[in-house]
Amino acid sequence: MSKKPQSQYCMDAKKSMDSPRLQASLHSLQNRFGKGAMALWAEMDDQDMRRRVKKSRMKNLEYLDILLAELAKNVRTRGGHVHFAETAQDAIDYTLDVARKNEVKRVVKGKSMLSMEIAIDPALQEAGIEVVETDLGEYIIQLAGDKPSHIIAPCIHMDRSRIGELFAEKLGIDYTDDPPSLTAAARKALREKLLSADMGLTGCNLACAATGHISLVSNEGNIRMSTTMPPVHVALMGMERIVATLDEHRETVQLLTRGAALQKLSTYVSFVGGPSSDDDPDGSKEFHLVIIDNGRSKILADPEFREVLACIRCGACLNICPVYGRIGGHAYNSPYCGPIGAVVTPLLDGINKHADLCKGETLCGACKDICPVQIDLPRMLAALRQKLAYGSDRWNTRQHNPLEVYAFTLWRLIVCWSPLYRTGLKIARLCQRPFVEKNRMIKRMAGVASGWTDGRDLPPIAKKTFDEIWQEKHATPLPKLPVATKEDNNA
Ligand code: SF4
Repeated sequence: MSKKPQSQYCMDAKKSMDSPRLQASLHSLQNRFGKGAMALWAEMDDQDMRRRVKKSRMKNLEYLDILLAELAKNVRTRGGHVHFAETAQDAIDYTLDVARKNEVKRVVKGKSMLSMEIAIDPALQEAGIEVVETDLGEYIIQLAGDKPSHIIAPCIHMDRSRIGELFAEKLGIDYTDDPPSLTAAARKALREKLLSADMGLTGCNLACAATGHISLVSNEGNIRMSTTMPPVHVALMGMERIVATLDEHRETVQLLTRGAALQKLSTYVSFVGGPSSDDDPDGSKEFHLVIIDNGRSKILADPEFREVLACIRCGACLNICPVYGRIGGHAYNSPYCGPIGAVVTPLLDGINKHADLCKGETLCGACKDICPVQIDLPRMLAALRQKLAYGSDRWNTRQHNPLEVYAFTLWRLIVCWSPLYRTGLKIARLCQRPFVEKNRMIKRMAGVASGWTDGRDLPPIAKKTFDEIWQEKHATPLPKLPVATKEDNNA
């Protein structure tokens, strides 16, 4: 039987797994940040903070329309402009319009995944505007013409020697792989861009409805310069990134910076609430807040997936995920990678189109444990698989592989009816014989099952099951376990 051609996801994942350099980087990232975040949560004095913030995030989603209206009113009162963009194109058109009116030639950007989600950079460049990333990691990615591979550490897939070569080629400096020298070279190049930019374009970590401020966290100071030096500042905000009060803001930021970089607080937290004024001379002359939907309302309307909008994009789930830890970020083919990407990318950009993402995760639950706001990503990954297995009108999914449904229905029948299960095991033991090698492992399976043994050996079915050994020893059958009902599973 010929093998099914591999999807792009599988090919990219394999490429990453074959790269010792990337594997070493991912291992060290997870070892430090994944383990570090778990230790941090365990040691936190206020053990209730995560639950409180999750609760407030969910409550804010319920009152999103009211909070967004309050935010918009407060920003406008301070002289800022607010635009609600239903689609990515709408946000791009508005930003281009602002750029044209201000005769913008150069845009300096703060790190923003939303800007990648809506693909605003190519649109600006097509309009003849130079776009310069100012976050160091994003700047490196931009110079390399590459894509980010982590939400917080975008160039984790590149080591310093590669960055040294890149800087020598693009910035015309002598080759060095010394991090401080590389940082100094980037700083010099970026400062010139920042001093002459006509517009700053940033994301928005959080927005506070009560005060009408957006906030941006960074460790490099680039955000302060991008938001205050150019005469125009446009901030792109996903409509769910809102908190009601400054108290909520304080706690949410504390979790964000801990989850992202194990920091109690990042080096800079910038608040922007409007253009500069006579009373407050710092800041841009014009401030525009673009609040973007781009598929979020549809997620909000579905109680099964609404929880994913509570995400604060800290990236912690990437730092513990066993799948991300092997395949890295590029295989996800989205600005959002790792477990959060495997849920949010299909929801924003099509479940069928990104079917591999939710199918590729292990459902081990580590992402939920590490998530500062305890988002149940495994539950939503399973729900996405369910949409693929049975189809969904709401999400416009067709059955991805009807055979899978039959296969699992058959499997359910077998495992739920013990005589059939035992007979099946006996047959399988016989059928596996030609494949068991001398070392008592199966190295290669046939047909559709061959994928299982492409990258690993499989232990054969044991001569006796646990059930059989138990009966021999105790002369009684195994006690029956309670069977979970559908209601139990949904609880
Ligand atoms: S799902 Fe949780 S851990 Fe992952 S990015 Fe969002 S907030 Fe962070």
